[in-house]
Amino acid sequence: MDLVTDRGVLRLHDPRRFGAVVWAPGEDSPQAQKLLGRLGVEPLSAQFDVAAFALALKRRQSAIKQVLLAGDEVVGVGNIYASEALFIAGIRPTTKASRLSKPRVARLHAAIVQVLTRAVEQGGSSLKDFVNAEGRTGYFQLEAAVYGRAGEPCRVCATPIQSMLQGQRTTFYCPTCQKP
Ligand SMILES: [Zn+2]
Repeated sequence: MDLVTDRGVLRLHDPRRFGAVVWAPGEDSPQAQKLLGRLGVEPLSAQFDVAAFALALKRRQSAIKQVLLAGDEVVGVGNIYASEALFIAGIRPTTKASRLSKPRVARLHAAIVQVLTRAVEQGGSSLKDFVNAEGRTGYFQLEAAVYGRAGEPCRVCATPIQSMLQGQRTTFYCPTCQKP
């Protein structure tokens, strides 16, 4: 779907069919609230506050990777970005969110901002036939530290990157750099 505006074209091309286009008269309308009402904060906005993030994670008993993917604490941290942010923060994806110390949450918070900022600069991540509105693929996946690199040496310590299934999604991590 192309949404043509006077500032450019916003294109939805959704090879994995996770997406939808729903028209609503405003953000507070019931149609919008049904889909957006329980979403977490935008990670590149001032609302993504490290103290509030730490408090929220204290209440979550699930694995930290699952909490990130759920999108109800922070949005936009999909499978690739969650894997990469957890690597930068040195956190094993299976670690219970509630067990993370404040310094580790602070490192994760900074890593999420770093990874998403970098991904935006690189034009996003391309899976299969993704292209942006100009027809170009994203480049972020080419510099991934762990995502898609199972069996290859960690870029930091050379330990082979491992992969595992977590809630139907593949998670990639370095067993040496990322502590439980
Ligand atoms: Zn490593």
